[in-house]
Amino acid sequence: MIPVVKPLVGEEEQNAVRAVLESGQLASGEMVNRFETSFADFVGAKYAVATSSGTTALHLALLAAGVQPGDKVITTPFTFAATANAILFCGAIPVFVDIEPATLNIDPLAVEAAAQMPGVKALLVVHLYGTPCDMASLTTIAKDKGLVLIEDCAQAHGATFGGRQAGNFGAAGAFSFYATKNMTTGEGGMVVSNREDIYHSLKLLVNHGSPSRYRHEILGYNYRLTEMAAAIGLIQLQKLPLWTKIRQNNASYLTGELKDLKKLVLPQEPQGCQCVYHQYTVRTESRDALAEHLKKWCVGTAIHYPTPVHQQPLYQKLGFVNYRLPVAEKAAEQVLSLPVYPALKNEELRHIVAALRKFGDEEIRGRFLT
Ligand SMILES: *Cc1c(COP(=O)(O)O)cnc(C)c1O
Repeated sequence: MIPVVKPLVGEEEQNAVRAVLESGQLASGEMVNRFETSFADFVGAKYAVATSSGTTALHLALLAAGVQPGDKVITTPFTFAATANAILFCGAIPVFVDIEPATLNIDPLAVEAAAQMPGVKALLVVHLYGTPCDMASLTTIAKDKGLVLIEDCAQAHGATFGGRQAGNFGAAGAFSFYATKNMTTGEGGMVVSNREDIYHSLKLLVNHGSPSRYRHEILGYNYRLTEMAAAIGLIQLQKLPLWTKIRQNNASYLTGELKDLKKLVLPQEPQGCQCVYHQYTVRTESRDALAEHLKKWCVGTAIHYPTPVHQQPLYQKLGFVNYRLPVAEKAAEQVLSLPVYPALKNEELRHIVAALRKFGDEEIRGRFLT
């Protein structure tokens, strides 16, 4: 079986963790500081604060950006639930707007319309699958409407729009280092910002509101990263640029080999962007049949995501029942992610292509080839 995702962790990471364990300094210390500095440098941001997960990074990014109970936050329904859950953690209210059919990212026109609503404070965008959102339009709208812009970069380490890296466009950007992300620390996250006031808030919030030992100025959390995780992160960060290149090469190979399949919609790189292919996600009306077929051919696939967030039981119970977001709802029925990770071997890539083409030619004749 070719799994749909495979984390890459090597001997360097093992040695780094062993060295930390032997040092006796296990909780947030020098490694975390170094990881923060290195990650900020990588993104091209002034500041970075490491957190225990992408979810806690999002929570802190929203809090530090000033999101308060009762505020409305515009966001996408087509994402991992953590994006919207982080809004709920703040006592704020998600306002879901529809996505663009081409990228499956939040639709700037829908954002502009929703921004007219009273009480809208912030805009939380997600660079889904490592495809940057239309940041030219979104930053303009945020500025014109006075919205605080926050980026969920959990799938977009190193992705660029107009030469600028994801995480640099608004008040703060939140990254995840979960095991399946483009780089990992097992669990972990990072908030980046170019604003000193936000950086100071983040430093307090991540550590019980505490600027110095046993002094607590605001209500904060224990969302700190461990030294072991930071040691892994420092090494993964060095490997990330090469891994991103391999992801991009794998994606362009898949696209080259599959682009004649008329009924298969392939991911597109928007003008002026560099996608980092956290996922290579195709769309087809025969999604479930294709997933079944690929499974028989020993190709793992996954659905990102089968249910838009507004249709999740939690959100239905909370009263998000009158939403009709047709592009997101349709995407949830059609998307299928194929393996694209850097550990894929050439013969595995060829096998994935052969398996897909078989579905088109034979199993369900004419599904793809017209
Ligand atoms: C993974 C992910 C998160 C959450 O990150 P964790 O590290 O798993 O908490 C948030 N948003 C998106 C879009 C993600 O893919």
